[in-house]
Amino acid sequence: MKIIEKILNILYPRRCPICDKIINQAAGKICRECRKKIPYIREPRCRKCSKPLMKNEQEYCCDCENKTHIYKKGLALVEHKGAVRKSIYRIKYNNKREYLDFYSEEIVKRYGEIIKKWNPDAIIPVPLHKKREIKRGYNQALLLAKKIGAALSIPVYDDVLLRIRQTTPQKTLTEKERKKNVESAFHIKKNKVKLNKVIVIDDIYTTGSTIDACSKCLKDAGTEIIYFLTISIGDGM
Ligand SMILES: [Zn+2]
Ligand SMILES: [Zn+2]
Repeated sequence: MKIIEKILNILYPRRCPICDKIINQAAGKICRECRKKIPYIREPRCRKCSKPLMKNEQEYCCDCENKTHIYKKGLALVEHKGAVRKSIYRIKYNNKREYLDFYSEEIVKRYGEIIKKWNPDAIIPVPLHKKREIKRGYNQALLLAKKIGAALSIPVYDDVLLRIRQTTPQKTLTEKERKKNVESAFHIKKNKVKLNKVIVIDDIYTTGSTIDACSKCLKDAGTEIIYFLTISIGDGM
């Protein structure tokens, strides 16, 4: 470990993304007890959005069964519940950006091979409106995208897709309202290299309306296939 890293570790010791207690760096990026509590998504899962399913015979979740998504398919790492819900809240609203180191590592470890097979031209983070990004100081989706992109050698473009309208946070809305809320929120900046296949990255997937709204923009601009990656996925009901 470099001297500067050692000093930083003393000044700002790494904290566990789940319990927020200081952790022993040698043990990794999460404490041993908390690792057991992570609700990783396992099989059976929806073939489209990766939401966990109750039965093996099911192919799609109720949501994907009943609507046509614009994106092709995607993966989430964990279920959006309990301690994970609180953890992601702290990433967004309490400046706990360091937790993204853990989540990005887990995404790469579990899904790296699949992501490579998708063979994307670029990763595109779901943008925040400029005003919100300035207020927060960062866009958590961009930070996550950069970490995953660096680990898998995939370029990250954060200047292709813009959020042109300030939207109400999705968590306060019903499914119908969510869709309407984000429908015209995004805009593609023209004159960019043509991207055929991209991965859109966000922190949470609930009904997929944000990912679909981004996907629609990208498709209108000529992108053929859109995948998504998120840290967590909610039940979206
Ligand atoms: Zn912990
Ligand atoms: Zn689904």
